[in-house]
Amino acid sequence: MLNIYTHPIFYKHDTGVGHPETAARIDAAIEGVGRAGFAEQIVRDPQPHDDTARIIAKVHSEDYEQELDEACRAGMRLFHSLDNPISSQTFAAARAAVSTALRAADDMMQMNKRAFVIARPPGHHAERVEAMGFCFFNTIACVADWLREQNSIERVFIFDFDVHHGNGTQHLFEERNDVYYASMHRYPFYPGTGAANEIGIGEGRGFTKNIPFPAETGDAQYLRAVEDDIVRIIDDYRPNAILLSSGFDAHRRDPLGGMRVTEQAYGEITRRVVEAAEHHASGRVLSLLEGGYDMEGLAASVDEHVRALA
Ligand SMILES: [Zn+2]
Repeated sequence: MLNIYTHPIFYKHDTGVGHPETAARIDAAIEGVGRAGFAEQIVRDPQPHDDTARIIAKVHSEDYEQELDEACRAGMRLFHSLDNPISSQTFAAARAAVSTALRAADDMMQMNKRAFVIARPPGHHAERVEAMGFCFFNTIACVADWLREQNSIERVFIFDFDVHHGNGTQHLFEERNDVYYASMHRYPFYPGTGAANEIGIGEGRGFTKNIPFPAETGDAQYLRAVEDDIVRIIDDYRPNAILLSSGFDAHRRDPLGGMRVTEQAYGEITRRVVEAAEHHASGRVLSLLEGGYDMEGLAASVDEHVRALA
């Protein structure tokens, strides 16, 4: 079973004219869900999750949370980075992204449903106290941390297939072995991290995996890496839940990614991860939208992705 979640506030984070991370991305993702025949499964205004503020303060810090809130209230136009324009509703949208994803995770635990969360702003570049790369709060990290608080969850596996390396997620977990972070991405490329020799630190050594690809990489290499590395790691690690940082900006149509991945490959990648989750994680998979900046490429990829999740 699959639930899909979004929230009306995601439209209100205004990045201004010409920015690729726009509210139209929400519509494109919803269009993809509709093509897959799952429009009925969309929860459009989920109840806020009670743990949201506490988890954001834990993963980031209360000061950082407050700094973003105040910047939005004060009418500032940028936050920390030229890549991160803000508007009056950015804080509310970023917080709702975490809240909605926690709601999805809670439902996954209680009802054993898989989840796809259509949220913006994205999150995987957000560091503990630094916004970057269109991201403010690291939503997938918040979900991983929340899941680890649940009795039955000892190990969480995060697979990030956005074309960009999830520097924030890696840094938040690289010293831990209870959350495994694996990423395949274009390298060298924004944000500069994600070399193959970044494998974790201290107790977390061996629990970070980076699979760098050159520009123009296509389906065959992606699928081989999923088969030879990702699925094998999941088999060894035996996580209790799998989280996907689902960026679709390696799609061949994407204006930022410079890769050649097709929507069919996104479906196949998802299918292999779901199979692995059925073996080890009671089928628990929560997918969170990260990047993807071509509207047709995003809709087509989401179509294949949610079919495979379901
Ligand atoms: Zn990206």
